[in-house]
Amino acid sequence: MGKASQLFKTDLKGLDRLIKKLRSDGYVVYGPVKRGRSWFFLEIDSVKQVDLNYVRTVLPPKKLLHPPREKLFEFKLGDGFEVSEKPMPPTVALFGVHPCDLKAIERQDEFFSQTPEDPYYLARRRNALIIGLTCTRVDENCFCLSRGTGPEVSTGFDILITDVGNGYLLEPGSAKGLELLKSLGFQEVGDEYLEAKQKLIEELKKSFTKQMPPEGLAELAKSMLEHEVWKETAERCLSCGNCSLVCPTCYCFDVYDVLELNLRSGVRVRELDSCQLLEYAEVALGGNFRRNRFQRLRHWMLCKFGVAGGGLYSSCVGCGRCIVYCPANIDLTEVASRLRGGG
Ligand code: SF4
Ligand code: SF4
Repeated sequence: MGKASQLFKTDLKGLDRLIKKLRSDGYVVYGPVKRGRSWFFLEIDSVKQVDLNYVRTVLPPKKLLHPPREKLFEFKLGDGFEVSEKPMPPTVALFGVHPCDLKAIERQDEFFSQTPEDPYYLARRRNALIIGLTCTRVDENCFCLSRGTGPEVSTGFDILITDVGNGYLLEPGSAKGLELLKSLGFQEVGDEYLEAKQKLIEELKKSFTKQMPPEGLAELAKSMLEHEVWKETAERCLSCGNCSLVCPTCYCFDVYDVLELNLRSGVRVRELDSCQLLEYAEVALGGNFRRNRFQRLRHWMLCKFGVAGGGLYSSCVGCGRCIVYCPANIDLTEVASRLRGGG
């Protein structure tokens, strides 16, 4: 997605028009909506439903491109093996995606585009339109700055929105995004808006307190598989899998068939899986490659540090979700810091 050079500006009403235009173009639009003290990507039809100052949603927008559970196809055993057509994926527009989640989607795109391509993910992704949103605040669990995945972002969106105080700067990131902005007749503006945006981002960078720089971390972690931090941390771990289920870069899934009672028809389903769960590495005859909790915790963190099979595709973008939603208060940045010899 090459970045176009034209810039536009609008106000809240303009953002509302954008959402309505997407809906009239056939998109199901999702945006960050506040419920209680948390935010969720939910279907929206107006900008009034959206919190443009949100920090992070519970589940990342990944849930709309790589759903937690999906039916792949139906099958029937007759004379042969009949398989139903693949269901048509809904055309989604993701409104208000933060930089760390944009980076995570880029990694998922690369992962699922490898040979053999994943037709289910790619069908949804090709039709999707992504509207990024520059963060206006960070909390104590954000660390994208140290990961190089935010708060600035230059790719991975069709349009990027930034609140520059006296309106919203709109930067097209694709031909589709540019066409949309032009069709809405938004006012064109000059580079001074980019300068205003940059100033806000520089200010925002001062608010980050947590960090986990990637430099050398993968090699270090790989060379310290016996460090006591793994077992000590795992003593608190409940093996609940929350950390990987909320992670925007975890992509592992399980595929299974659900058979009807007649044993002649059924559906094939895929569901997100987690390497933190005992069953994940289970093999025939009761074998398990990661029977101990510390092995599973270590494996998951190594993956997030960029070591495991997924390499960079599944490494951490610093969104902070796994820290916020871990019932045992386990923080992978503290583990990384122990490995580096701190604490
Ligand atoms: S490992 Fe944690 S902080 Fe990093 S991307 Fe995943 S959920 Fe976010
Ligand atoms: S969320 Fe926390 S307790 Fe649950 S598996 Fe992950 S590290 Fe363990």
